[in-house]
Amino acid sequence: MFQKILIANRGEIALRVLRACKELGIQTVVVHSTADSDAMHVRLADESVCIGPPPSRESYLNIHQIVAACEITGADAVHPGYGFLSENAKFADILAAHNITFIGPSGDHIRIMGDKIEAKRTAKRLGIPVVPGSDGAISEEKEAKRVAAEIGYPVIIKASAGGGGRGMKVAHTEADLEVALQTAKSEAGAAFGDDAVYIEKYLEKPRHIEVQVFGDGAGRGVHFGERDCSLQRRHQKVWEEANSPALNAEERSRIGGICARAIADLGYSGAGTIEFLYENGEFYFIEMNTRLQVEHPVTEAITGIDLVHEQIRVASGGGLSVRQEDIKFNGHAIECRINAEDPRTFTPSPGTITHFHTPGGLGIRVDSGVYSGYKIPPYYDSLIGKLIVHGRNRVECMMRLRRALDEFVVDGIKTTLPLFRDLVGNPDIANGDYDIHWLEKYLAKGE
Ligand code: ADP
Repeated sequence: MFQKILIANRGEIALRVLRACKELGIQTVVVHSTADSDAMHVRLADESVCIGPPPSRESYLNIHQIVAACEITGADAVHPGYGFLSENAKFADILAAHNITFIGPSGDHIRIMGDKIEAKRTAKRLGIPVVPGSDGAISEEKEAKRVAAEIGYPVIIKASAGGGGRGMKVAHTEADLEVALQTAKSEAGAAFGDDAVYIEKYLEKPRHIEVQVFGDGAGRGVHFGERDCSLQRRHQKVWEEANSPALNAEERSRIGGICARAIADLGYSGAGTIEFLYENGEFYFIEMNTRLQVEHPVTEAITGIDLVHEQIRVASGGGLSVRQEDIKFNGHAIECRINAEDPRTFTPSPGTITHFHTPGGLGIRVDSGVYSGYKIPPYYDSLIGKLIVHGRNRVECMMRLRRALDEFVVDGIKTTLPLFRDLVGNPDIANGDYDIHWLEKYLAKGE
C-alpha cells in the first residue's frame, strides 16, 4: 500500500480523496494555487505545497510543478480527481517515468479513450453497441452526405478530441450538413487543436445512461450498475440517479455484463465509466471516461462500496475488494450538483459565502469543500458541493431529497438550490419520465 498520496485537484473532490486516504491510513499531500490558500483541502491535508498562481494552466495543470511537489514531499502516488490532469495521458506517462504511481489507468488506455473515434472503434471491437455513424474521421462534404444518407437524418457532427459537450453540431437535413461540418471542424480546431470530426445518428429522445466499471489490470472486470444522467443543461449534467428509473434488473445486468467483459478484455486498470445514450430499449456507446466521475457517490450509496478505496487498492496492486457477485444494489440515490450560479441564467456567482448550513439525517451525504466565510475564487469550476440522498426506493429518496433541499442554506451568493427545489416537485421528475432534452425545454418555458 502507498505511504503518501498527492492529490492533484481542488474543491470537493480533493476533500473526497483526502477522506479515503485518511481512512486507509495513508499520508496526504495537496497542491494548491495562491487563490486556494484558504481552501478546506489545504486545511485538512497533512502537507500542502503551493504550486503557482490562480490560472489553472500555471498551477493545477502544471505538470512540472506537481512532479516537483511529489519529489519534495516523497509522495509515492498521485490521485488526479476529475477534470484537470485526470485524463492526461502524458501526465500518467511522466509520473510512471518518475516511479510515481498514477491512480488511474495506463497512459495508453487514456489515449485510446481520449480520442473519440479510436474509442468508438475500440468499443465496437469489444462488443459494446455503438451509435450508427462514420467509421472514422470525415472531412469531405461528399463523404458526409453519403454517410448521413445511409444512417438517416438528423445527424450529429462531433469532434474526435471533444469534451465537456463542446464541438457538436446537429444537421436535420442535407442542406444543413455543409455548414454543420464546417462549423464543427473550425470549433474543434480552435477548442482542441485538432479538427478531426465524425458523424453519427442524432438520437432525438434518448436518456443518458452510464455504467460504472472497474478493472484490476490483471484481466478482471466488474460493473457497479448504471447511473442516469439525463437531466442536463448544455450537455452538462445537473442531476444524477442510480439506478436509472428507465431500466429493469435484466437490462442492467445485460449491459453491465457487456461492459465488465469489455474492461476485462482490454486489461483495463482502475475506475472507468462507459457512457451510453438509451432509446427504445437500445444502448448506444458515446464515450468512455477513464477516471472517477463527479456523480460517483450515487453508485456508492446504492452499493455501499467506497470507489476511491477501490481505486487506491487497484493502483497499489492489491486488486479489487469485491467480485461481481458481491456487488448488490440497494434502494435508490439522487445527486444534485450545487453550483455557485444564478439558478435561471446560470451565470457564475463567485463571492463570499456568509452562511453555509448543510442538511443531515438518515440517507443524506453532502460532499463540499466550502464553509461559512469562504470566498469562492472566480477562476475555477462553479461546483461548490453535491447533495446525495439515498432511500429504500425512489419515492422515499425523493421525499428525503425535498426535505434535505429545504434544510440547505447557502447565503451570500446565488446557487442552483432553487432549481432543485422546483424540480423535486415536478410531476415528470417524480415519475422519472425525462430524456436528455427535458431540462432545457423546462428552462426555456421559464416555469
Ligand atoms: P462530451 O465528451 O463533450 O461530454 P459526449 O459524447 O459524452 O461528449 O456527449 C455529450 C452529450 O451530447 C450527451 O450526453 C448527449 O446529451 C449529447 N449527444 C452526444 N451524442 C449524441 C447523439 N448521437 N445523439 C443525440 N445526442 C447526443
